[in-house]
Amino acid sequence: MAGKCMMSVEVEPREELLNLVRSLSERVRVDGAGGRPLSYLTRKKGGGEADAGGGLAPVVEAHAGSDCSALEAVRAELGDCRRCPLHRTRHRLVFGEGSPQAELVFVGEAPGADEDAQGRPFVGRAGQLLTKIVEAMGLKRDEVYIGNILKCRPPGNRNPQPDEIAACEPFLIRQLQMIRPKVICALGTFAAHTLLKSEAPISVLRGCFHTYQGIPLMPTYHPAYLLRNPGAKKQVWEDVQMVMKALRGDRDEGVKRERD
Ligand code: URA
Repeated sequence: MAGKCMMSVEVEPREELLNLVRSLSERVRVDGAGGRPLSYLTRKKGGGEADAGGGLAPVVEAHAGSDCSALEAVRAELGDCRRCPLHRTRHRLVFGEGSPQAELVFVGEAPGADEDAQGRPFVGRAGQLLTKIVEAMGLKRDEVYIGNILKCRPPGNRNPQPDEIAACEPFLIRQLQMIRPKVICALGTFAAHTLLKSEAPISVLRGCFHTYQGIPLMPTYHPAYLLRNPGAKKQVWEDVQMVMKALRGDRDEGVKRERD
């Protein structure tokens, strides 16, 4: 692991530095144009959340929905990301898509081959199933927001590595802080473990709400798992019905247990 990190620093220091400068100047441009403070020194203090931004400047306040430019600023900050080795093998970076005012955000694991080719999340077979789930909830795909823990495809769809998560997670955190949805749905073991900092099996985590930065979070099985195990659709349907209740405001009916 350390070897990999050292290699990326030794091989491309100038390029990394240039990328950082480009990304910072883009951030200054976008934040300046949007009237946002350019330095944490001029920001108001946030609402008591710990610095979950992974080293990025904290946001000013929690958003109940965001404008496009707030998410665009996060996208600009990400730039042509080379913060982890996945940039060498990806074709397209998959930032996430959907409504900046989404009440519901789905978080998956990482782009697969189809997503890597198109630059959009959940567009392959698992994605088509996710779209059906969203529609069965009475929502349109473009009314929700869909993202992933990682924004670049791990080669051969292998599991994300800790250094990749460390580099990428701060941007997902920022996206969630900007959108500030009513409910987050974590798709699969990997998203649930990363967001909840838990190692409990998804079969144990699912079926009840947890809390992520004050936002109710429902873990459920990943659509790719459902393609292999259609019998689990019943449980996913139970989970998303609880999500629908929470979106309607009667969340307490569905809460069995809550964790921080
Ligand atoms: N699986 C995921 O976890 N995310 C995608 O975007 C596609 C498949």
